[in-house]
Amino acid sequence: MSLTTRAAVVESGGAPFTLSDVTLDEPGPREAVVRMVATGLCHTDLGVASGGLPFPLPGVLGHEGAGVVEAVGSAVTGVAPGDHVVLSFTSCGDCRNCDGGHPAYCATWLPLNLIGGRRADGTSTISRDGEPLGGHFFGQSSFAERALVDERSLVRVDPDVPLESVAPLGCGVQTGVGAVWNVLKPVTGATIVVLGAGAVGLSAVMAAALTPATTIVAVDRLGERLALAKELGATHTVDAGEQDLGEALAAITGGQGADGVVETTGNVNVLRQGVDALGARGTLVVVGAPPFGTEVSLDVNGLLGGKRVVGLTLGDAETQSFIPALVRLVKEGRLPLHRLISTYPFTDIDQAVRDMGAGKAIKPVLTF
Ligand SMILES: [Zn+2]
Ligand SMILES: [Zn+2]
Repeated sequence: MSLTTRAAVVESGGAPFTLSDVTLDEPGPREAVVRMVATGLCHTDLGVASGGLPFPLPGVLGHEGAGVVEAVGSAVTGVAPGDHVVLSFTSCGDCRNCDGGHPAYCATWLPLNLIGGRRADGTSTISRDGEPLGGHFFGQSSFAERALVDERSLVRVDPDVPLESVAPLGCGVQTGVGAVWNVLKPVTGATIVVLGAGAVGLSAVMAAALTPATTIVAVDRLGERLALAKELGATHTVDAGEQDLGEALAAITGGQGADGVVETTGNVNVLRQGVDALGARGTLVVVGAPPFGTEVSLDVNGLLGGKRVVGLTLGDAETQSFIPALVRLVKEGRLPLHRLISTYPFTDIDQAVRDMGAGKAIKPVLTF
């Protein structure tokens, strides 16, 4: 049985989000219908809405959903109607990296999540007036009152935790936390530098504060973001608009360089400075995504001290174990995500987009 629901549709690249009635396809055997309670807004949504990625428009975006399962397909075993779920990316479940516990590096990750707009079998999940729309975004397309979700995007969570407080776990928060916990894995006394204090960067700061790292440096150009970073666990801050980044980091690390750097800005000049700021055997994690095709130059001899530069998608997290652990930390107040979140009614999605663009909202969360 297909279902009509209200969604925020992007008609073409650069067009605003407009509310429109759409029809969800019948759930496949491994899909579920989820009534959305909250959905985070992420820069990737805005990048696709601007036409910067080859996702088929008109279409429905949204990839940080949280809601309640209403119906499940015949082969779904992990969730049941009434379960509270956080939605994250999907994956095939069958390739070498999925089998190895690294679904963010699934062989079909890009078409399944970011650019395909369809199910793996090529069928569309959403239509309007009989015409297929781009959908299946991260297996969810959750800028809608109801979403047709891939089973592998669903993570069942503790029903005692308000869903609007955990919606951003599915992308931005998982990415920042995973950069520190899954890649950098700081040892006792480590120095961690976080470039960019947006939602991903501040998540990395909070994650670093839960490790044995003793020096945590946040870098940004917005004073209020740096002040917040300090409250969330940064031991030092650098205002890159006022200080020379290289000199400031050298001073903070006593000339030894950083053990780990999380690059969230997507700016290649900042990336380059981050690599230069690494100490021997230090690792820089590339999280921020510049436009497709962007290149960066590095000092090759500078790398020979054992430096590593590693790209990262979605924290390299195995969502079924990672997200429930983060939900528990949120519940206990040890991961104070609410400090990043501003909520907006779903119908005010354009205001949320404007506030995010203007730097007024760190992590807008739409509520239904
Ligand atoms: Zn995202
Ligand atoms: Zn796979």
